[in-house]
Amino acid sequence: MSENVTQKYEFKAEIKQLLDILVHSLYTSREIFLRELISNSSDALDKLRFESNRGTTILDADLPFEIKITFDEKKQLLTISDTGIGMTKADLISNIGTIAKSGSSEFLKQLADNKTDANNIIGKFGVGFYSVFMVAKEVVIRTKSLKMDEPAVEWKSDGLGDYEIVDLNENIKRGTTIEIYLKDDAKEFAERYKIESVIKKHSNFISFPIYLDSEKINTVSALWREPKSSITKEQYKEFYKFLTYDNEDPLDVIHVSVDAPIQFNSLLFIPKKNFDFFGFNREDYGLDLYVRRVLIQHKNKDLLPEYLGFVKGVVDSEDLPLNISRETLQENIIFNKISQSVTGQVLSYLAKKAKDEPEHYAEFWKEHGKYFKLGYSDFTNLEKYSQLLRFNSSNNEDANGLTSFDEYVSRMKEDQKEIYYHFGPSRAAVSVNPHIEIFKKKGIEVLYLYDPLDEFVMSSIRKFKDFDLKSVEQIDMKKIDKLKDVESAKPEFQELNKQEKLQFSSLIDKMKKILGDKVIDVKESQRLKDSPACLINNDEMMTSSMQKIMRMANKDSAPVKKTLEINKDHKLVRNLIKVFNANPEDEFINDTVEQLFETAQLLDGDLLDTHTLVSRINKMLEQSSDWYTTVKNIS
Ligand code: ADP
Ligand code: MG
Repeated sequence: MSENVTQKYEFKAEIKQLLDILVHSLYTSREIFLRELISNSSDALDKLRFESNRGTTILDADLPFEIKITFDEKKQLLTISDTGIGMTKADLISNIGTIAKSGSSEFLKQLADNKTDANNIIGKFGVGFYSVFMVAKEVVIRTKSLKMDEPAVEWKSDGLGDYEIVDLNENIKRGTTIEIYLKDDAKEFAERYKIESVIKKHSNFISFPIYLDSEKINTVSALWREPKSSITKEQYKEFYKFLTYDNEDPLDVIHVSVDAPIQFNSLLFIPKKNFDFFGFNREDYGLDLYVRRVLIQHKNKDLLPEYLGFVKGVVDSEDLPLNISRETLQENIIFNKISQSVTGQVLSYLAKKAKDEPEHYAEFWKEHGKYFKLGYSDFTNLEKYSQLLRFNSSNNEDANGLTSFDEYVSRMKEDQKEIYYHFGPSRAAVSVNPHIEIFKKKGIEVLYLYDPLDEFVMSSIRKFKDFDLKSVEQIDMKKIDKLKDVESAKPEFQELNKQEKLQFSSLIDKMKKILGDKVIDVKESQRLKDSPACLINNDEMMTSSMQKIMRMANKDSAPVKKTLEINKDHKLVRNLIKVFNANPEDEFINDTVEQLFETAQLLDGDLLDTHTLVSRINKMLEQSSDWYTTVKNIS
């Protein structure tokens, strides 16, 4: 028999980096290496069952589907073997020699971005095969692929810089065996008690039997198929943790069995914390799809729309064929019915929660609301979606309060036909915005939006029930005027007499001249109460903040032109009328008008250059300090 040649390979740089982090910075979570290896074995068995269901010829077809763990305390040796699909030499090089897109590379990226808390992160990620080097001084893999004519191979490494591969002549059965020679400080992983407790903690719900020295130690039941009444809260929690690697309990459990017209079970969870704790983690969502207990696809992305991606769990269908291909799932009518039904279940569950336990719902909303909001294009479920939205409102006591459209509608004024909202950086900023004044005066509720996404939501859904959604910038004053005032408006100023009216109207003409083509028009305002002026957006389609977003997207810096409205019942404006009457060319008028205009721009987020505004303020302050000292007789 010819001697097989051992070939040496060097680890890729990113693997060396990962190994370095795993070995040097993580101690408290070391036990998860076992979860990772068992999960790989389970994946290998799932893949085998999948191949077998689609009729692939399989080596050693009579072997049972199982995972075996043995240990030798004296040798500090732990061995994990499975009868899964195994690996060819090429598989070994490409799967174990490079970082797959799933798990490890994401983990690395997160670690690089967030060096602070590696131990916390490791619990949530599948860090993969390499985690074994947290406990191993040497690892030997012997594996035989399900493919008939591929030789068995051995892979060996100390996890430092390189690994060796050699073909084996021995007759090895299908599957993979991993021998772990434990470091001295990790020898507890060759003790029965330790191994058993780690498996029970992390791998109890693996759907293949795990034997520890020939004793089966995991539960191997498809919890989602059991009747609800027989499942304890503890079991749900345990299963959730097994499924998600989360160390907290779930916020909600949604367990449903559907019998007609299609039959399936779903066991879904809403986590307490959004998993996407580093930004938008697009890959990491989806539900596990089973067909009669057989895993068809991990993290299927089509069972739920993306905006419900925070939901974790499994769906198990009775009706789909076992040999269904993942690629054609989306075209499958049964699959689509299941996905509609699952989506409906989640939305109804949330609706019930919102109605029966609003505080619990608020907790959900604070954590997952910003993802949920992305559902504004789910037209099939638009009504349910809209009912689940929450905003802060002028009716709430502070910025933490939440209001639904339904609540808003129930408080609407007689004859009010529209729902009003305004966008701004904070409650403080929105509530003093001049646009809001008329709403305060009329006692009309305004939804306060602080998240730019809210604007997209409003402008895409456009309506709630029969009511149009309107930005306070885009209101039709006639509609607002019709509604009754709440405050018994005791006018602070007398009406302008005939002559003063004429003067005011000439002042407005003067203002138009001063501002020129910076504005569309200058007009007397009906909406202002406490502010002297504000800008009105004449764009029917877009609010100022939306325009700003568009400008940023198009790298176009010029703000759109607006109409400046002037409040004639404001002290400043009344004084201006007097100044104007005395001398229409007084420089004070120019400065004041420019200042009013730029301040209004500033409030709308339209002011591009603050320099002129600041120097004008300084100039005016200087002047007023002169007047002040004169009036106060200070020398
Ligand atoms: P992941 O499981 O996220 O793909 P791992 O680092 O855990 O990443 O594993 C890398 C790859 O090595 C797996 O995708 C699989 O192809 C292969 N592999 C690991 N363990 C086994 C095994 N027991 N049987 C067959 N293939 C395996
Ligand atoms: Mg893995």
